[in-house]
Amino acid sequence: MSDAGVYSYSAVLMGSPILLKLFEDNPTLARQVFSLIKQQENLFTVNRAASEVMAINHAAGRHPVVVSEAVWRLISVAHAVSILPDSTFNFAIGPVVKRWKIGFQGRSVPPAAEIAALLRLTDPHQVVLDDAQRSVFLQQPGMEIDLGAIAKGYIADVVQAFLRQQGVTQALINLGGNVQTLGSPPHEPQGWGIGLKKPFGREDELLGVLQVQGKSVVTSGIYERYFELDGRCWHHIFDPRSGYPLDNELLSVTVIADRSLDGDIYTTLLYGMGVERGLAWLADQADLDAVFVTRDQQIICSAPRHFRFQPLDAAWSLRY
Ligand code: ADP
Ligand code: MG
Ligand code: MG
Repeated sequence: MSDAGVYSYSAVLMGSPILLKLFEDNPTLARQVFSLIKQQENLFTVNRAASEVMAINHAAGRHPVVVSEAVWRLISVAHAVSILPDSTFNFAIGPVVKRWKIGFQGRSVPPAAEIAALLRLTDPHQVVLDDAQRSVFLQQPGMEIDLGAIAKGYIADVVQAFLRQQGVTQALINLGGNVQTLGSPPHEPQGWGIGLKKPFGREDELLGVLQVQGKSVVTSGIYERYFELDGRCWHHIFDPRSGYPLDNELLSVTVIADRSLDGDIYTTLLYGMGVERGLAWLADQADLDAVFVTRDQQIICSAPRHFRFQPLDAAWSLRY
């Protein structure tokens, strides 16, 4: 499909609609990108039986599993972020995520005692990484790692590197909430316009547009996967200390960063920090920007060093 020189290619992978924009008609390249995504997904998924991550989980409490370099790299990053003091990111949260089944058939609010029992299987210090062997060992039976919070970011960066290596200088890949870009579209010096979705709105309803050049834009929101019960919205971003979905003023957090992997990590961390702590923390992070969207209809931007924001919905207040 072409619109003013833009060629868009789409697929459904990793349970999400995937969009690739190029400025040349190159279906072969698009096919290569989609099969690269598929191949990467097959390493990391915990929703199908035979991934490397599932092999680690199946061996929990029994033996270490040697993994490929890609899986090793991502697990090393996930481990480091998970053991930071007060981190709300925990890649050992698998048993809790599995039990809630949010976004899948059979979701429910588990009994508190069950959550407490599962939390005892989520200590990231009990994930033992052996650098020399490149192996991963979950010390207790029942432990499960879950890279769902960062796999898409990592894969978006892999796609960006692949396109660059193919000589592409202007492109956009959207892996359902994780956008990564190369350069700017031709004749658009402002950069790529990336829509900020209205939480719980229709698919095409936007609060505004973020403009970036060669940056990644990652959004994590409670409106993506959730269910409602007893007047509460139970969504898929968990507080690893309580085992319940994080409950604060936020509807979504968007991070603008060079690497989509960083964007994916920091959306989860900022979600846990909330607006005020998040803004204070961002003030010292020269490479990161963020946009918070709150339940009381505010859009709050960090000092916008790497993006511009164009509001589109007057019912939402905007502050920097
Ligand atoms: P999306 O899946 O919409 O891209 P995220 O990037 O925020 O959203 O990832 C959410 C996924 O991350 C969940 O589905 C779950 O697999 C995992 N997860 C949930 N809570 C945490 C957490 N506190 N730390 C690490 N991973 C988490
Ligand atoms: Mg994500
Ligand atoms: Mg994430």
